[in-house]
Amino acid sequence: MNTVFPITFSHTMLSDLWTCEFKWYRLYVQRLTGVTRNGDLIAGGLFAKACEITRKAYFNDGQDEETAIEAGYNHILMGEDTEDSLKTNERVAFIFKQYFKKFRMDSSLVPVQLADGTYAIEYTFQFDTGIAHPEIPDQNIIFKGKLDGLYERHYQGRITERYVVDEKTTKTVRRVKGNKAKLIDFNAEEDQYRMDGQLIGYHWAARQLGVKTTKSLIRRIPIGVEYEAAFELDIPVTPVMLDRWETSTFSKIHEVIDKYKWLTTSGKHASAAFYPVYNKGCTEFAKVCPFHVGCVEPYGEQILASQYQQLIYHEGNMISVKEFKELKGIIGE
Ligand code: SF4
Repeated sequence: MNTVFPITFSHTMLSDLWTCEFKWYRLYVQRLTGVTRNGDLIAGGLFAKACEITRKAYFNDGQDEETAIEAGYNHILMGEDTEDSLKTNERVAFIFKQYFKKFRMDSSLVPVQLADGTYAIEYTFQFDTGIAHPEIPDQNIIFKGKLDGLYERHYQGRITERYVVDEKTTKTVRRVKGNKAKLIDFNAEEDQYRMDGQLIGYHWAARQLGVKTTKSLIRRIPIGVEYEAAFELDIPVTPVMLDRWETSTFSKIHEVIDKYKWLTTSGKHASAAFYPVYNKGCTEFAKVCPFHVGCVEPYGEQILASQYQQLIYHEGNMISVKEFKELKGIIGE
């Protein structure tokens, strides 16, 4: 199969890389793409976009709160059908409105204003890592991502804290064991984010933008059978975490580049460089890995080639890996 080394790295890619290198290779080097639909992801995407529309309308465009919220609400109602019986568009839109009633857009917690005068809301960042791409001349690897927001807590005219804010819809909230009132277990809720690589990456990105954040503010938004109000988790991050995240991330990128260079000249099977882990990744999210046949059957590679397309995003379109390589002047499979 054709291959091309990725130009950009994101948190999702890193997460896949740490889980199983071979799965990462299938996804981001061979670019195997099938048609999958996930109601949870659609609902989460609609909610995130609605937050962006609402906050930009309020903070950047100066609209009143009610009009701004209505714009986000309508985006969810008119958006792609989630086709999920729990996360229906109507239900997600209702929870969206309740969320903004609970966490008002007031002056106590405001988005950080960036050098260009806009606010750091749903901010897409990309930074040049300085690491040379193994195939494309004059191209460095880019690290990119999208922050829900950088916010400042104001109290009596002073900034008391700077946060990375991340909104997370969820079907499952952790509860205090043995408690009939089903109280939220805030410690357990916080524990799942204390060492979260995505959040550390956001804090690292904030530093690159010149904004020193010290905590993550996670807003959990339950979408269950019965309505439950959203709640906040306040989680510190330390300079040690940022430094070590940067070292390990950059080292890992160097490592996979070296493996890729070796593989393209060795004539070996890809699994000799990008090791299949046969572990949690194989059944992540209670689903079998879509590429498992390649780790089970001797001719798995050919089976995958017949099941999947090899597509890559380029200037607003999905094109074949072969076409992409021709455009970039990359020779060979
Ligand atoms: S089936 Fe398991 S070992 Fe094979 S690529 Fe998928 S996650 Fe990796």
